[in-house]
Amino acid sequence: MHETFTITQIRTENYRTKTFVFDKPFSGAQPGQYVMAWLPDVGEKPFSIAGADPLRLMVVAVGPFSEALHRLDVGDRVWARGPLGQGFALEGRHHLLVGGGYGVAPLLFLARKAVAAGHTVDVCIGARTAADVLLAEAFVSTDSTDFNGFVGEKSVKSVPSVEKLSITTEDGSLGGRGLVTQAVEAAIHARRPDCVYACGPTPLLVALARLCREHTLPHQLSWEAHMRCGMGLCGDCELDAVTRQVAGIPAGWLVCKDGPVLRFA
Ligand SMILES: Cc1cc2nc3c(=O)[nH]c(=O)nc-3n(C[C@H](O)[C@H](O)[C@H](O)COP(=O)(O)OP(=O)(O)OC[C@H]3O[C@@H](n4cnc5c(N)ncnc54)[C@H](O)[C@@H]3O)c2cc1C
Repeated sequence: MHETFTITQIRTENYRTKTFVFDKPFSGAQPGQYVMAWLPDVGEKPFSIAGADPLRLMVVAVGPFSEALHRLDVGDRVWARGPLGQGFALEGRHHLLVGGGYGVAPLLFLARKAVAAGHTVDVCIGARTAADVLLAEAFVSTDSTDFNGFVGEKSVKSVPSVEKLSITTEDGSLGGRGLVTQAVEAAIHARRPDCVYACGPTPLLVALARLCREHTLPHQLSWEAHMRCGMGLCGDCELDAVTRQVAGIPAGWLVCKDGPVLRFA
């Protein structure tokens, strides 16, 4: 069942990304869960919940649906159903978060929840170029107003930021040059986390699954797949056999219902 949400604020994050803030909360939503957003005559697509109270979605304009969202203004309406799927669950007290592309959206929600609980958080962000890096400032912000909408409270008084933020770009235009997995390796050696949490493109998640196994680290990875029903009915979002094999994902595991987050002990 879709609920109607009205846009109250739109923030431009980079050349192709906007964050939409809506007029009401998505009650009970956890970091890593998603909504199916619907626009009349355009269709329906999944988006990670970037903040729950009020609802926030961060959208990269890459095709018909996301571009239609980008054309909306404050006061316009979007329909959404959810919260759907299995989200992240904090394990231990020191966390390492790894984000690629718009994968940082659910991780900011998770980071805010962890620091509000008094846990320590290190973050590694990877992107192609400096222009593609998203939300880096938000992760290290100590401005309490920035926390609104991320920890399920409307007025958080004072919250510390994450402890260490590491940025890696493929062309070296911001932070270290190379792949984010190099920064992850360094972060693990500097201070071993109780758990690694990641969201991003499949090759990144596959590499992280390998790395975490090597270090015998618990990890929770949020997978992406083409999704239609969002309810485990159509089976469209099962990951391909090669990805399942290298990442250790069982056959029949559906991103929409069993995921998007899969926890590996
Ligand atoms: C669980 C889940 C959570 C998601 N969360 C988000 C989110 O928080 N924010 C978000 O923007 N999208 C998110 N997506 C992707 C989103 O659902 C759509 O796939 C995306 O908006 C593209 O839809 P479209 O109709 O605009 O373009 P399409 O016609 O579906 O895609 C156009 C082309 O762009 C490629 N593409 C899709 N997404 C990206 C991307 N991010 N970067 C580069 N190329 C891309 C597609 O493979 C295709 O080649 C999520 C998907 C899943 C499964």
